[in-house]
Amino acid sequence: MESRRECGVAFRLDDGGIRGLGVCMSRVVVVLSGGMDSATLLYHLRGEGYEVSALSINYGQRHSRELNAARSICEIARCDLRIVDLSGLAELFGTNSLTDHSMEVPEGRYSSSSIQLTTVPNRNMILAAIAVGWALSNKCDAVALGIHDGPHTNYADCKLPFANAMHAVAQTCDERKIAVLSPFVTWRKADIARRAVELGVPLHVTWSCYQGGDVHCGRCGTCIDRREAFEACGLVDPVRYAT
Ligand SMILES: [Zn+2]
Repeated sequence: MESRRECGVAFRLDDGGIRGLGVCMSRVVVVLSGGMDSATLLYHLRGEGYEVSALSINYGQRHSRELNAARSICEIARCDLRIVDLSGLAELFGTNSLTDHSMEVPEGRYSSSSIQLTTVPNRNMILAAIAVGWALSNKCDAVALGIHDGPHTNYADCKLPFANAMHAVAQTCDERKIAVLSPFVTWRKADIARRAVELGVPLHVTWSCYQGGDVHCGRCGTCIDRREAFEACGLVDPVRYAT
C-alpha cells in the first residue's frame, strides 16, 4: 500500500507507476468520477505533494449524480475541475446498464453476469486517453486513475496489466512523456476506505451507486462493495443507503 513520491529513481511499472519516472513529477490530472475511489486518489496525490487538477467526463452515464458529486468534491477540496460532455459516446457502447437507460441495473453482489451488464466497453482507456491529451496541453506530468483490486470486481480495465499498458502507451504518444499513475491498482476497496478516512476525504458528498436516486440504493453491486469495504475495516460510511 505504501507509495512515495521520488525523484531521480529508476521507474518501476509493477507498483501502479507511483514511484516516478526518473524526473520530478509535480502536476497530475486525476480522472474523477465522483465516487470514493477517485476522490480518495485526489486527496492521496495531494498528500504526496502533487498539484492536482481533476477531469470528469460525461460519457452518457445513467444519471448526473456522479458529476454533481465531482463538483462538490472539488469545491470542498478547492481543486480545479473540468467537466467534458462526451455524452454522444453512449450510443456506441451497446447494451450495458450504465449507458443504456432502457436496461435495469442488476442487483446483488458482483457476479460474472452483473460485471458483463455493467461494463462500458473500454471505458478506462477512453477516459485515460482524454486525460493524457489534457495533461499534454496543460503541461502536466501525469494522469491518475482510481482503479483498484477486489475479490468481487473483475473488470479487465481495472487490473495491473491494463495500468502498465496505459502507462507505457502514454510514454510513447507524444515527445513529452506522460506517466499514468494507478497507485490503488493492488489495493482492496477497504484499503481505500481506510485511506479516505485518514485523509479526511469528504466521503459524504461522493456518489458510488449505479442508480441515480436520492440516496444510494444499497442493492447494486457497487453499493454492496462499498458498504462491505467500510464494514471490513470497522469504519462508518457517511452516505445514506435506501436499504
Ligand atoms: Zn446502488
